[in-house]
Amino acid sequence: MDIKMRILVVGGGGREHAIAAALSKNTNTELYCVMAKKNPGIAKLCREVLIHAETDAEAVVAFAKQHNIRYAVMGPEAPLASGVSDALRAAGIGCVGPSKNAARIETDKGFCRSLMQKHKIDGCPAYELCQTPEEAAEYIRAYPGDLAVKPTGLTGGKGVKVMGEQVDREGAVEYAMTLKNQTIILEERLLGEEFTLMAFVDGKTLVPMPLVQDHKRAFDGDKGPNTGGMGSYTLADHKFPFVTDADYAAAFSIMQATVDALAKEGCPYQGVLYGQFMNTASGPKVIEYNARFGDPEAMNVLTLLESDFVTIAEHIIAGTLSAKDVSFANKATVCKYIVPQDYPDNPHAGDKITVGAHENTILYYANVVEENGVLKTQTSRTMAFVGVGSTLADAEAAAETACRNVSGNVRHRTDVGTEALFAKRIAHMKELRG
Ligand code: AMP
Repeated sequence: MDIKMRILVVGGGGREHAIAAALSKNTNTELYCVMAKKNPGIAKLCREVLIHAETDAEAVVAFAKQHNIRYAVMGPEAPLASGVSDALRAAGIGCVGPSKNAARIETDKGFCRSLMQKHKIDGCPAYELCQTPEEAAEYIRAYPGDLAVKPTGLTGGKGVKVMGEQVDREGAVEYAMTLKNQTIILEERLLGEEFTLMAFVDGKTLVPMPLVQDHKRAFDGDKGPNTGGMGSYTLADHKFPFVTDADYAAAFSIMQATVDALAKEGCPYQGVLYGQFMNTASGPKVIEYNARFGDPEAMNVLTLLESDFVTIAEHIIAGTLSAKDVSFANKATVCKYIVPQDYPDNPHAGDKITVGAHENTILYYANVVEENGVLKTQTSRTMAFVGVGSTLADAEAAAETACRNVSGNVRHRTDVGTEALFAKRIAHMKELRG
């Protein structure tokens, strides 16, 4: 008799491999997955997979019904935006992942800012919404300080140009002029240290995960173009020295207020809420929300998760989540992504890669395929190693060694989680706050 709990994972990247690995620690589960490309790591953990567009709500629901899926855990944002979670719920299948309406907190930056403003939620930077590039250009030219220029829709974290960083004022105007037929958001440029606070949310209660810091830029020293994220780290105490207890409390209450506001607006939030904060001289400000785990951040926190992810998922769906259901190991983690040599601008797919020794690390596959037992790169991030240790230095050394032991036409950032970069972050915050 089949008594195993059938769970569907939607998505096929590194984040979803970490989700599947965390769910499969519960031996009473049977996993299924819908993914656009076959991720060999996820496939190994699943009873059956459907290789198909994750955004196709009809196909995801049909697959879920065919296999009597109890509930789904949503990985990426695209299926949230295309209404897959709504379609699953309408078919009586539970979902860890917000409705399309609630996911606007990520998919529509204009909605996010207006919600924060309407409900007088702290941490919202000054912003302006422009309906045409010409309107944006005029605003940028007249604005007395630096601005961040972004389209309001999804861009995979790569659609932002910040004045004083990637572009000057004329560069910002030029960029805005390319953003045709979409709403453009112009935000005051925030200065500080970025950190990520993710929380499990059951519609009203938030249970936080360890703080994470991601590294978006392509090359060492935070140089080069923005990417989906090159690596991330957590500390053993789950906090950062450049985020005071008061900063942490402020960030948490901003996220709680946002979840309360969404409930008041008739779109209660159930899933994982990701808050990207800039810790400024005057406290944390929201850079953006994501309506799901971050990738790579999911790999750090899910590697540390000690409690049963299946139980947490059930509480999220039932609206009965509490802090006692969630605990994380007090260890440091460093996640480093291996990427194609010329990622993100000109990545080459189809190159053979070989994984070497990787002690004290967990390997999560991402955009990689296996052909006749040979792993081959695709055009996005290839695979990630999460080093685990009692100190940041131990975790970093493990991840770095594992990355160096990969051979092929790939590279990684060698500075993620290093003491030197970490010290720079602390010094930056000290300088900012005097
Ligand atoms: P987003 O896609 O909104 O998360 O932005 C990607 C990256 O751009 C962030 O991680 C920040 O480094 C930077 N960024 C976005 N908005 C701002 C802002 N208002 N001020 C400074 N940097 C920003």
